Amino acid sequence: MAKLNLNRMEMPRQDAIERGKNFNEVALGYTKEMAKEEAGRCIQCAKRPCMEGCPVMVDIPEFIKAVTEDNMPEAVRALKGKNALPGICGRVCPQEVQCEAVCTLGKKGAPVAIGRLERYVADWERENIAPAERKVELATATGKKVAVVGSGPASLTAAADLTKIGHEVVILEALHVAGGVLMYGIPEFRLPKAIVQGEVDYVKSLGVEIKLNSIVGKLNTVDELLQNGYSAVFLGTGAGLPIFLNCPGENLNGIYSANEFLTRVNLMKAYRFPEYDTPVRIGKRVAVIGGGNVAMDSARCALRLGAEKVYVIYRRSEVELPARHEEVENAQEEGIDFRFLTNPKQFIGDESNNLAAMECYQMELGEPDASGRRRPMVKEGSEFKIDVDVAIVALGTTPNPLIAQTTAGLETTKHGTVVADESTGKTVKAGVWAGGDVVTGAATVISAMGAGKRAAADIDKFLRG
Ligand SMILES: Cc1cc2nc3c(=O)[nH]c(=O)nc-3n(C[C@H](O)[C@H](O)[C@H](O)COP(=O)(O)OP(=O)(O)OC[C@H]3O[C@@H](n4cnc5c(N)ncnc54)[C@H](O)[C@@H]3O)c2cc1C
Ligand code: SF4
Repeated sequence: MAKLNLNRMEMPRQDAIERGKNFNEVALGYTKEMAKEEAGRCIQCAKRPCMEGCPVMVDIPEFIKAVTEDNMPEAVRALKGKNALPGICGRVCPQEVQCEAVCTLGKKGAPVAIGRLERYVADWERENIAPAERKVELATATGKKVAVVGSGPASLTAAADLTKIGHEVVILEALHVAGGVLMYGIPEFRLPKAIVQGEVDYVKSLGVEIKLNSIVGKLNTVDELLQNGYSAVFLGTGAGLPIFLNCPGENLNGIYSANEFLTRVNLMKAYRFPEYDTPVRIGKRVAVIGGGNVAMDSARCALRLGAEKVYVIYRRSEVELPARHEEVENAQEEGIDFRFLTNPKQFIGDESNNLAAMECYQMELGEPDASGRRRPMVKEGSEFKIDVDVAIVALGTTPNPLIAQTTAGLETTKHGTVVADESTGKTVKAGVWAGGDVVTGAATVISAMGAGKRAAADIDKFLRG
C-alpha cells in the first residue's frame, strides 16, 4: 500500500498586506496540479465517513476520485448530484467541523482538503462548460405549483430539488437581487458575487422562476399564495433582524448594525463609492463587537475601506471564537487587533453626537453556560476606554417578524424563529414548510441547504399524495 500523505496542499492566497487594500478574493484556488495532488491523498475509505459529515450528503469520495483521474465532467456530475451551490459551499462552508472533521486522514495528520477540491471542481465547470451545455435531467411535470419565499441557500436548494423532480417553482424575494446573505452579507473578497450569481443562474436554468422585489406579507400573504394556485409554500426567509447591545449611547452617529454596514458595502457597493452612490462612514478607528463570521467580515471590510485601526471586541477568549478558524487567521494576518475578554459598557459621543469612544469592561470566564461555553463575567472595577469613530455591532440576528405577523396559525418561538419539524421542515400550518435561519436562528449556508433539501423531499411526498 502506498504511504499516506498526511500533509495537505496549501492553497495560494493574496499577500496579507496587499489584500487588506482591495476587495478581490483572498484565496486564489488550486491549480490543476495542486488539485490532483490533494485529491490523490484521499484513500477512498469503504465506510465514507466524510459523506456522513456533509449535511447534504455529497458523494465526496466519488467526486475526488474523478479529480485524480482528470475526469472533470464526472467530478461535476458527482458533486452537483446533491449540491446545487458547490462554488459557494467550497468557499464558505465550515468544512473543518463537518466533512473534514471526520475524514480518516485527520486521525493522523491533515484531513483531505475537501472544501478546496469542491471549489476547484465548481470553478472548473464555470470556466469550461457554457451554461447552455450543462445538461440536467428533469422529471416529467407534475402540474403542481410551489411558492418558495426568500432566495437564500435554503430556498435555492429547495427550489432546485423540487424543480428537478417535476414541480413548478416560483421564488418570491423581497430584495432586488437573489441570493440572500450570500449576496448582501458575505463580502466579495470571501465570496465573489459573480460566483453567487452563476449558481443562482444555474437554479434558474432548471426552470425556477425568481420574482424579485416581492415581499411576502406585504404584496401577498402566505394564505393568499395557498389560495391562489400554490399547493405548498416553503419559507426560507432567513434571520435578517439585528440584535443590539442595548447599552447607553448606542444611538450615536457612527454606530452600525453589521447588517446595515455589510449591506451597504456588499449589496449597495459602497466599496466602489463614488462609482456607486452609497456612502459609508469609516473614520480612523473602528470597533467591531462580536466574534462570529459576521464580525470578521465587518472588521475586514472596514480595514479595506481605509480604517487605520480595526479592533474586534469579544467578551470571551480566543478559544471560544465562533468564527471559522481560517477567517480568524486571515483577519489576524491582515492586522485586525483582537481584544478578547472585553465587553462594551457604554458608547461615548462628542458635542455633535458622533461616536468618540467606548467604555469597556474587562471580562473573565466562569462555569459553562447553556451553550456549553464558559460564561463571560464582568471584572468589577475594570472599566477602561478605547477611542473609536465607528462601531459595528455584530452580535447575531433573529427573523424579521413580518411573516409570523401576517400568517395565522404559524407557530413561532420566543426568539421569533418559526417552529418546524427538523427532519421534514413541516410547520404546524397545513401546506407550509420552513427551513434555514428562519427556523434555527443564524446558522450556516450548508445547514440551510440541508433543511431546504429535507423540506423539498417532504413537500414532494405531500404533493404526490
Ligand atoms: C456576514 C455573514 C457572514 C457569514 N459567513 C458564513 C460563512 O462563512 N459560512 C457559513 O456557512 N455561513 C455564513 N453565514 C451564515 C449564512 O449566510 C446563513 O446561515 C445562510 O445564508 C442562511 O440561509 P437562509 O436561506 O436561511 O437565509 P438567507 O440567506 O438569510 O436568505 C433569506 C432571504 O429571504 C428574503 N426574505 C426575507 N423575508 C422575506 C419576505 N417576507 N418575502 C420575501 N423574501 C424575504 C431575504 O431578503 C433573503 O434574501 C454568514 C452570515 C452573514 C450575515
Ligand atoms: S474520509 Fe477522507 S480519506 Fe476517506 S474517503 Fe472521505 S475524503 Fe477520502
